[in-house]
Amino acid sequence: MQDDRKTLDDRNKMTDLERLRHSCAHVMATAILRLWPDAQFAAGPPVENGFYYDVDLKHRISPEDFPAIEAEMKKEIKANRPFERVVVTREQAIKDSESGRLGGLSERPGNPSKFKLGNLAEIPDGEPISYYKSGDFIDLCAGPHVMRTGNIGAFKLTSVASAYYKGDEKNPQLQRIYGTAFKNKTELEAYFKMVDEAKRRDHRKIGAEMGLYTIDAELTGPGLPLWLPKGGAICEELEKLAKETEFLAGYVRVKTPHIAKEKMYLTSGHLPLLYKDSMFPPMSLLEEQDRARNEQLTRRKFAVLDELVRLKNEAAANPEQIKALERESFEIALQQDALGERYYLKAMNCPHHHRIFAAEPRSYRDLPLRLAEYGTCYRYEQSGELFGLMRVRSLNMNDAHIYCTPEQFAQEFNAVNEMYLKYFKIFGLGKYVMRFSTHDPSRLTGENAKFVNEPDLWKKTEDLVRDVLKNSGIDFVEVPNEAAFYGPKIDVQVWSVIGREFTLATNQVDFAQPRRMGLVYRDKDNTEKTPLCIHRAPLGTHERFIGFLIEHYAGNFPLWLAPEQVRVLTIGEDEPLVTYGKAIVQELRANMVRAEGDYSNDKINGKIQQAEQARVHTMLVVGPRDLAANAVSVRVHGKGSLGARPKAEVVADILAAIRERRA
Ligand SMILES: [Zn+2]
Ligand SMILES: [Zn+2]
Repeated sequence: MQDDRKTLDDRNKMTDLERLRHSCAHVMATAILRLWPDAQFAAGPPVENGFYYDVDLKHRISPEDFPAIEAEMKKEIKANRPFERVVVTREQAIKDSESGRLGGLSERPGNPSKFKLGNLAEIPDGEPISYYKSGDFIDLCAGPHVMRTGNIGAFKLTSVASAYYKGDEKNPQLQRIYGTAFKNKTELEAYFKMVDEAKRRDHRKIGAEMGLYTIDAELTGPGLPLWLPKGGAICEELEKLAKETEFLAGYVRVKTPHIAKEKMYLTSGHLPLLYKDSMFPPMSLLEEQDRARNEQLTRRKFAVLDELVRLKNEAAANPEQIKALERESFEIALQQDALGERYYLKAMNCPHHHRIFAAEPRSYRDLPLRLAEYGTCYRYEQSGELFGLMRVRSLNMNDAHIYCTPEQFAQEFNAVNEMYLKYFKIFGLGKYVMRFSTHDPSRLTGENAKFVNEPDLWKKTEDLVRDVLKNSGIDFVEVPNEAAFYGPKIDVQVWSVIGREFTLATNQVDFAQPRRMGLVYRDKDNTEKTPLCIHRAPLGTHERFIGFLIEHYAGNFPLWLAPEQVRVLTIGEDEPLVTYGKAIVQELRANMVRAEGDYSNDKINGKIQQAEQARVHTMLVVGPRDLAANAVSVRVHGKGSLGARPKAEVVADILAAIRERRA
């Protein structure tokens, strides 16, 4: 069962826009009741990008009903009714539910507010029970709301779906009506324009058009993208960028296997519980030395079973003897289970890197040690959650772990942030925010424990991180209670060029795993100390980052990232022209430029159109006049013809644009 009941604390944190949207849900319910007075309402919270209200109604509401509902809503908004809060006793609320008054415009004899009764039962004793009344509509609701219906500047109903009451399929199925609302019409229109644009830029659609990746659910498996050569080229460019940047910043590169023993994850703390649901199930491996013992146990197991069957068929069987055999059979199963080793596909690279740290004695002189790897991880995501490149089961991660002393921490952490900013600039990301998630001191121990029980270390590292963020002038917000279990974390949210928000990367401080994994360095005073560890992945995973970039660029990648950077197009297929064209392609390829040639006899306009459709970045058209002048006619995707220029100059320009990763 899904528990989406908001606590009072959650409610206090609702943003202005969320209040407005939730208020709009009340107005929508009012409108639906004007049209269908016997409608029964369940829950109507604000959600990302809008709101919904679940309704039980014989009539199937369809988008064709939206204009009528919206017309009633407009009347309510125009009437500018106040939202009035009334606190009542539980007895009163039960009475009003039974009379059908709650979630209604009036009492409805014989039609009690059944879902409101259910919601009421979930309100803990001691929490106030309140109504919100706007006009004739009274709802059981803890708020908060806007002052008046007239504060809802602009709204639109968007879709209808079905949902079970409280998310439990044993409960009745309801109709979920979605809508969205904004402070004013301009914002509403901008939102729908963005939604349309996002559809046009959908990474799954453009990814298929450009031949970047494929997902072969049938044989390879769902959520396991295969990068086609053109997508592979983008992966390579991103890795190259990361390698160069990290090399300059003093990182060293390592390589680690894709599997590890269960023991490692038990030591790191990811298993037995914390990460179990995100990992693929383990594989068991019996080494040679265990096989003989395993066979012996299997033989004994069958002998015991035979004996049990025989005894049970005997009239005068001894119950003690049967019990003893059953116990033995159980013990054999346990012994077999303990034989051999369980291995897991890695869901994260950290423990492997920690083992590399531990592979040699480390002194304070070796720190900071920055281990980097484009590591492939495997995470189990429910099949219903998989989505193109955005939610996958195999991920190529721009990972690194920085081991440092507490004194080095601020500088290292700052350098990581600088790296993020450098990347944002390269990709033209002007709007971003860092969400700094901290721990909740009340959840260090006990049943609800969510964070490692190291109160001093939490305070120290959170203070350090907060200081670095404040001093760097980076935009950040602090979010309590959302840290990782081993330390505070920073999620980086960026906005694509069309204004859609993505969570791209994380940056985490870890003071727990190094200790659990027994990592130490010898300090100046010759004592052993535990290093701090920074986990960071500014470019996230190839999957998610490229999914994001496809939308951000609408598939029109800058030259350095374009899968096909240059195509040489000859006007006709005359031998000298083709030779000239091929030489240009060879010269570019010798400089690692992804260049192709189209030397066919097709009409040049058709050839250009094909190249444009394939989103080739730069087209070099060569005809007899270009050949004679040792020139090329340049055309850039989306920009049209830029005229003829000397070939050497154009090649030099292309190489410089790629080297500088020009936008
Ligand atoms: Zn409400
Ligand atoms: Zn890590």
